[in-house]
Amino acid sequence: MKYELFVGLLFLLSQNNFAQRCTTVSSTVESKIYSNTPNLRHGSISIPIVFHIVYNDEDQNISDNRILSQIEVLNSIFDPVQLKLDESIPEEFRYLAENPKIHFCLASYDPLGNSTTGIVRKKTNISNIACKKQGTRQYIMDEKLGGSKIWDPQQYLNIFVGQRDDCPFAEAVFPELATDTNDGIIVDPRFVGINHKNFPYHRGYTIVHEVGHYLGLHHLTESKTEGDCTKDDMVDDTPLQSVNYFDCPSYPQISCERSSMFMNYMSLVDDDCMALFTKGQVSRMQNQIGVYRPYFLFYSCDKTDASYLDQLIIKAENNYWIIADKFDREWFANMSLFNMQGQLVWEGANEGHVFKFVANELHNFTAGIYFLEVRWKSERKIFKIALTNY
Ligand SMILES: [Zn+2]
Repeated sequence: MKYELFVGLLFLLSQNNFAQRCTTVSSTVESKIYSNTPNLRHGSISIPIVFHIVYNDEDQNISDNRILSQIEVLNSIFDPVQLKLDESIPEEFRYLAENPKIHFCLASYDPLGNSTTGIVRKKTNISNIACKKQGTRQYIMDEKLGGSKIWDPQQYLNIFVGQRDDCPFAEAVFPELATDTNDGIIVDPRFVGINHKNFPYHRGYTIVHEVGHYLGLHHLTESKTEGDCTKDDMVDDTPLQSVNYFDCPSYPQISCERSSMFMNYMSLVDDDCMALFTKGQVSRMQNQIGVYRPYFLFYSCDKTDASYLDQLIIKAENNYWIIADKFDREWFANMSLFNMQGQLVWEGANEGHVFKFVANELHNFTAGIYFLEVRWKSERKIFKIALTNY
C-alpha cells in the first residue's frame, strides 16, 4: 500500500516536471524535406544570436557573463572540438553520437547594419511577460505589448529572456510554424547559461534542447500513453519509445520493447543526464536549416571588419548584375550562386576590374531570391540578388 502511494507521487512529480521544463507549439504536419543536404563546404553553419533581456526586476536582468556562458555551452555541444564519447552515453548508442557542426555567436551587426553586442536589455512593467500571448503573438517579442522588438528572424536566432513563473520554463516554435511574431526561443532567466543555483537545470542545456526544437527536432516521443508506440520523432536512429523520461533514470530503460535513449538532448531528463544528438537528428537539423533558415548557410561568425571582399559592391544595370571594387581596383575571387534552398546553381570566378552576370547566363534560372557567395582565401561575402523575369 505504502509502495503504491510512493510510486503515484513520483509519477505526479514527473508529470509536473514535464509541464514545466519545455513546451512547443505542436505540429502534426511533417515538415517539407528537400532531398539535397545543405552546402557545408565551410565546415560549419554559423548562427548569430540576439538575446533580448526583458526584465521587471534586477534579478531577471542577468549578467553578460551568464549570456556568454550560454554561447560557450551551445558551442561545446553543437560544434565541439572533439565529440564527447564517454560513459555518459551507453555503449549501444555511442556510435550514433554526432557533431552537429553548428556554431553560435552573439550578433555583431543589428538589422540596420550598426555594430552591436548582440544583447538588448529592456525594462518592462509587465510581470510574467514571457508567458503572455495574444493568439500566436508573443508579448515579449513585441514592443507595443511591452516586450522587445524581434529582429528579422530569417537572419538571427532571437532568444527572449523573461519571467515565466506561471508557464513552462522555456518554449520554442518549430521552423515550419514560425512567423515574424513568434519565431525564436523564450526562456526564464534562471535557465540561461551556467547557473549553479538552478540545479538540476544548471548547465544551460534547457536552451540546447530548445535550439533542437528551433531547428526542427521533436521530443523522442509525443505519446501521452504508455504503450503507444506510434508517436515517432521522425528521426530513424532514435529508438521508438512511448514514455518521456525525467530526472536521471538508471540504464537501461525499456519502452516499445527497445532500450530507450533517455540521455538524448531532446529528452526531458536533468541537465547532468543529457549526452547526445544522433546522426539522424543532426541531418534533420541541417536539412531544416536548408529548407527554412537558409540565410544561416551563408553567415559566418568569423567575419572580420574591412576585409578585402568588403570593398566589393554590386549593382543592377539593364540585364546585368555588375560586381566591382569600390575603388575600381582589380579583384580576384571565386563565386557560387545558391537558390533559397541552399542548392548550388552556378559557379564561376573573376580576375579583373568588374564581373558581369550576363542575362543570358542566368536565363536558366527561375525568378526569385538568390545568394551570391564570393570567396577569396579565407574570406567570403554574400550578396542577395533578386532575379526577375525578363
Ligand atoms: Zn521540449
